[in-house]
Amino acid sequence: LRVRGTRLKWSEDKASGILLVIYDMTQLRKLENFRRDFVANVSHEIKTPLTVIRGAVETLRDGAIHEPESAERFMQIIEMHSERLNALVQDILSLSQLECRAVGDGYNMVPVNVSTPISTAVELAQARADAAGLKLVVETSADPEVLIDVQLVEQAILNLIDNAIKHSGEKSEVRITAREESGEAVIEVADHGCGIPAEHLPRVFERFYRVDKARSRKAGGTGLGLAIVKHVMQLHHGSAEVHSTVGQGSTFTLRLPVCRPKA
Ligand code: ADP
Repeated sequence: LRVRGTRLKWSEDKASGILLVIYDMTQLRKLENFRRDFVANVSHEIKTPLTVIRGAVETLRDGAIHEPESAERFMQIIEMHSERLNALVQDILSLSQLECRAVGDGYNMVPVNVSTPISTAVELAQARADAAGLKLVVETSADPEVLIDVQLVEQAILNLIDNAIKHSGEKSEVRITAREESGEAVIEVADHGCGIPAEHLPRVFERFYRVDKARSRKAGGTGLGLAIVKHVMQLHHGSAEVHSTVGQGSTFTLRLPVCRPKA
């Protein structure tokens, strides 16, 4: 708390007093800490690939460039880490856009059936699923209409499918389902992957929170995918949650208000 006091005097003979203004700094302090942590995290996330890229360039300069095999390996390293930086910048931009704009401001809200963003997200993820030897199974028991920014919801579903692919073993199945429940369209992305230990579950939607840092980075993760999912759902007055059992798999559930709920 911050307190400011001013002495009040109406006239020579009338009562005087003190005006105390009490400011609640909790929110402001929280926001400041949040901003500071975010900048520190972003700097760290940028520095890591930059260090690798500089190291690779130095090694090439020191002679590796004249050995075709080594040269190719270091070029690949430079390419991979540049892509990582690119993904990071894109995710940071998406997140800041989501935070800065209010509902309806600059968003293209249109009524569509919930299967529309699901189909596009599945199409976009299909090549990665094939490469990982995984099957994507889509089941829509109902196809309610929702008022959404289609691109944003597509991105949220795609982030979940990509995560499911990254954390599943080969020949596994990722199931994407849609149903209607209590006036909400419910989208689920379920995998039979490694699962998430219970103590990490409450934090996975936080920016840059990773259960296994090395694994996430190796898979090209920015650590922002689920934070984006959460923000997209908040913007739509919806929600995002996760249930998971280690060794059995994870289910991420998105809920969006239905335009015209069934009577
Ligand atoms: P990342 O870019 O690291 O994937 P996310 O925000 O998308 O970042 O996810 C945060 C963390 O949550 C991941 O690093 C991973 O540890 C965990 N996670 C997300 N989805 C899954 C999943 N389907 N199975 C297991 N762990 C997951």
